[in-house]
Amino acid sequence: MPTVETVLGPVEASKLGAILSHEHVLISMGNDARNYPWRYDWDRTRKNAVHEISEAKAGGIGTLIDLTTPDLGRNVRYVRDIAAATGMHIVVATGIWRDVPRSFWERDPAETASIFIHEIQEGIEDSGIKAGAIKVANDAEGVTPEAENVLRGAARACKETGTPISTHQWAPKEVGRRQVEIFREEGAPMDRVCIGHSADSTDPDYLEELLNAGVYLSMDRYPGVPPRPEWDARNRTLKELIDRGWAHRLMVGHDYAPMPILKDQPDPEPKPTRYLFLHTTALPALREQGVSEDTIHTITHETPAHFLTAHR
Ligand SMILES: [Zn+2]
Repeated sequence: MPTVETVLGPVEASKLGAILSHEHVLISMGNDARNYPWRYDWDRTRKNAVHEISEAKAGGIGTLIDLTTPDLGRNVRYVRDIAAATGMHIVVATGIWRDVPRSFWERDPAETASIFIHEIQEGIEDSGIKAGAIKVANDAEGVTPEAENVLRGAARACKETGTPISTHQWAPKEVGRRQVEIFREEGAPMDRVCIGHSADSTDPDYLEELLNAGVYLSMDRYPGVPPRPEWDARNRTLKELIDRGWAHRLMVGHDYAPMPILKDQPDPEPKPTRYLFLHTTALPALREQGVSEDTIHTITHETPAHFLTAHR
């Protein structure tokens, strides 16, 4: 039985339940939460996160893939505490997001890979928590030279460990195409790669070109904030790809995180957690448009479980 590394240790793939492909538990762009902890109300931040993730769990979500990297303020001990408090399975990531730290600029891909491999095989910091995914990111600026080193390092770590890569791309500029090219050049197994934020594109031909390279797509960022496509446009693209036969390569998510609460900030307005938008709104709409229950199960359970476990 294949297993997946979560913050609370390995979990059998068959027990993961519905999986959200691209989420976060805590985000601080940069390391403000670690460097300026006095600005935050940690009790209320934690309470709010436990509340929202418990709500997601009660609403039918079994697993979150948390793609938070060091440059996004990754804090795996905090995530482990939330997982223990809520019963949610949470997979955490190695890798680097858009703010490639200066220390990585001159590092060659082999050395970068060795850091990612350490976080996969030995653990993150000295927590013993092992990364179950490798996150990389390229936005509207495309793949910069320092980001290219990170992509090549990620490809090598994936090739050596079988741990999947999940990317952030700027889909309107089709940045995923260059990500695929680099992974191919490095000989990474393409069925261990997911090109993310793909529902920011409404062009099924571009997305199918990526799928034809053998990768998965994360159709995330639901419900979508204008000027990016809103949720019904995301659904149209997703349905078109499903109709073209790609459900076995598609997964869905929100790219959501409850924000850390500042000391002088009021409590967030009580509203349904965004972790459930797909399950309460977008997926029911797809069912109404004729997407079968089996297919919904494929994109929420089987495809992401396969992504997390194949070759392991
Ligand atoms: Zn994200």
